[in-house]
Amino acid sequence: MPQVEFSNIVKRFGRVTVLEDLSLTVQDGEFLVLLGPSGCGKTTLLNMLAGLQDVTEGTITIGGRDVTDLDPKDRGLAMVFQSYALYPTKTVRGNLKFGLSAQKLDRAEIERRVTWAAGLLQIDQLLDRKPAQLSGGQRQRVAIGRALVKNVDVFLFDEPLSNLDAKLRTEMRLEIKRLHQELEKTIVFVTHDQVEAMTMAHRIAVMNGGVIQQIDTPDEIYERPANLFVARFIGSPAMNTLAARIETSGQAIAAIHGPSGVRMDLSDYAFRTPPKHGDTVVVGLRPEHFIVGETAEPTGAVFTLPVRYTEKTGSDVTMFLDNGEKDLISVRFDHKHHHVPITGEAPPVWFPKDRFDVFDAASERRI
Ligand code: ATP
Repeated sequence: MPQVEFSNIVKRFGRVTVLEDLSLTVQDGEFLVLLGPSGCGKTTLLNMLAGLQDVTEGTITIGGRDVTDLDPKDRGLAMVFQSYALYPTKTVRGNLKFGLSAQKLDRAEIERRVTWAAGLLQIDQLLDRKPAQLSGGQRQRVAIGRALVKNVDVFLFDEPLSNLDAKLRTEMRLEIKRLHQELEKTIVFVTHDQVEAMTMAHRIAVMNGGVIQQIDTPDEIYERPANLFVARFIGSPAMNTLAARIETSGQAIAAIHGPSGVRMDLSDYAFRTPPKHGDTVVVGLRPEHFIVGETAEPTGAVFTLPVRYTEKTGSDVTMFLDNGEKDLISVRFDHKHHHVPITGEAPPVWFPKDRFDVFDAASERRI
């Protein structure tokens, strides 16, 4: 039975419609990430599931039970907030217990759950401290612990890692993933950070402008983005997207990039809807798929364009090629395998024949 189901959800604030007819099913035990830029409606969707905001139209069910109009405490879920929302005057133990005050439990059961959650999160040494005496990462663990003690089937996370520094964020990411594997509960996790989404989710729902653009596994979203928005939103540096015109001749199909005239051989591309001669398309080329230097791989295109500038991050180099358009073409490679070109140099770079993404220029959908 699907665990969480949003059906035909509409959300309006006054006259502004934020979500229009959105439907989404989160499977039992799934780790689903809602990912999208600021203002796309992901927090609103999570808050409606938590019961913190009203639903204008539509229904939400959890385990088949209609919870649309239920009080937050009667929904059988627990939420972890970005701000941690800990009580500064209570100890860690007090904060953990407070999560249980709405449930009528005997003292032994409360103690058992607090000990269990503290052990799982490795905060058992900190139970007598106040939040001010904890690091950011420890506070986040307490916030998660307060959700865990409730022993519910569905956990909601609203950007829980955004206040942590980069190192702690990586640690907590792994921690939350481990907790999910151990507890096998349903998780709905909101973030605008694609790395969090890609590393933790079973499936990602990519949102923009209140609309789910694609819902799929991380691999599928990276390998086969459904439209240009998803293609450009996932991946770093972002995918290069080049306007081109289709040229067909017999079985051969190619896209000719306007300004540079580069021919991209698409005869290995698995079209969903094959285009016709003269159609305008946008071809996607991920920076990390380019090859700099010699290659034995079947080549789909060769670019010989001047380098405008380069950026070095550890062993990776990103170079930006000038193809006469506003957006430079970014190419990422490992400088152990090729020297870093200087500005003005025009080293040939190759794009593999089986790595293109192709979108219709008008609808922006993958074809
Ligand atoms: P962020 O990552 O910045 O939190 P988000 O994707 O979670 O963004 P929401 O907070 O869900 O976005 O907001 C979605 C849209 O709804 C935004 O355009 C926002 O301005 C609007 N909105 C949110 N809350 C209200 C409100 N109480 N009144 C009016 N508009 C609101």
